Amino acid sequence: MRTYHKPLDLVRERSPERPVAFARPDAVAVAARWFQDKFEGDVFYAVKANPSPWVIEALVKSGVNSFDVASVPEIDLVATHAPGARMAFMHPVKSRKAIAEAYNRYGVKTFALDTHEELQKILEATGGATDLTLIVRLAVSAEGASYSLSGKFGVELHEAPALLLATRRATQGKMGVSFHVGSQCMRPTAYQAAMAQANRAIVRAGVMVDIVDVGGGFPSIYPGMAPPDMTEYVDSVHRGFAEMSVHEDTELWCEPGRALVAEASSILTKVELKKGDALYLNDGSYGSLFDAAHVKWPFPVKLYRGEGDTAHEVEAPLKPFRFYGPTCDSLDHMPGPFWLPEDIREGDYVEIGMLGAYGVAMNTRFNGFGDAETVVVGDAPMASMFGLAGRSIRLPREQQDEERKVVRFSRPKGRAGKSRRKR
Ligand SMILES: *Cc1c(COP(=O)(O)O)cnc(C)c1O
Repeated sequence: MRTYHKPLDLVRERSPERPVAFARPDAVAVAARWFQDKFEGDVFYAVKANPSPWVIEALVKSGVNSFDVASVPEIDLVATHAPGARMAFMHPVKSRKAIAEAYNRYGVKTFALDTHEELQKILEATGGATDLTLIVRLAVSAEGASYSLSGKFGVELHEAPALLLATRRATQGKMGVSFHVGSQCMRPTAYQAAMAQANRAIVRAGVMVDIVDVGGGFPSIYPGMAPPDMTEYVDSVHRGFAEMSVHEDTELWCEPGRALVAEASSILTKVELKKGDALYLNDGSYGSLFDAAHVKWPFPVKLYRGEGDTAHEVEAPLKPFRFYGPTCDSLDHMPGPFWLPEDIREGDYVEIGMLGAYGVAMNTRFNGFGDAETVVVGDAPMASMFGLAGRSIRLPREQQDEERKVVRFSRPKGRAGKSRRKR
């Protein structure tokens, strides 16, 4: 991958026709080190948030060597880019073939389940292996998530004790519990509350667990969604853990996806047409902007204009815009609002930030689009939970009135500031 100091350098040199994804491995490294410093347990990266090889390699370099995987292709990806890494197959519903391949070919020993049927499947597909680590996924009722993940998976708490007991009896290895409070969890106390529910199930079952896995859900920062400080989340987990009836050696695990990678990617798109407050871009909901379309999340944006050495970043006065993607599907619409200079025009470039999680990973080739190149940049992300972004963004008055919470948003300082970002 080519490397640029900052996105503007690429605009100046290339005036790209197609979307370009920016990779910030340093941002992954900072988040990874933060979790390892502050989280008193093992950090598994949930690969589905962003399976890019550069992400996996940056994590390994910063000491995260455990991965939450959900399919054999994900396992193969980790085996390729992080040889020797520890993997946990955390999808509660797997094919027998996938279980056997994970165990026999890749040496995966940790499997999640949420039914008696899946437990049997795992035992049979591994030939009655006795060295398995089995994790029972619980359905917890957690408030504060922007994206619920409990509807599809997890054993209901009243059915959990029987499954916990059966699982305990089925393995001579370790067993544990896991849950997911939901993605982009805005309430730190959701973790402590979920752990209290998990604890009741354990106590009722009368089993000792060796692992408590609090899953993902750790948030990132988006316009209008500025979560509390990340330390409040890990504090909530640590309090919840201290209150659980577990033995002294019980391990604490987490599986952050979004929080480790959200800041680390943005995408450069080109304005093909302006029609009133609608901007037609060359990337959209079938590319990197799935959440902007389907969950209507606004993302932070920057505008670049001009070619060659004259290209520059354009700032205020700002106005709210919505985006259309390049495909012919009318669902390819991102309502925003995206605040951009009011004189934005065809040929301008819009950089859309905070797309490292469930953004660049969602790219499809629908309608012949989606073929984005990835380059490495060294500037700071547009916003940061880990102190990477600098001064506060200057917002137009209307936006401040409309979305007060967004004022915690910040923009990188002029230059890349390498030393500032090493912490
Ligand atoms: C998606 C997922 C995660 C990561 O969730 P984030 O909200 O991105 O942190 C973790 N664990 C499991 C089992 C998941 O399915």
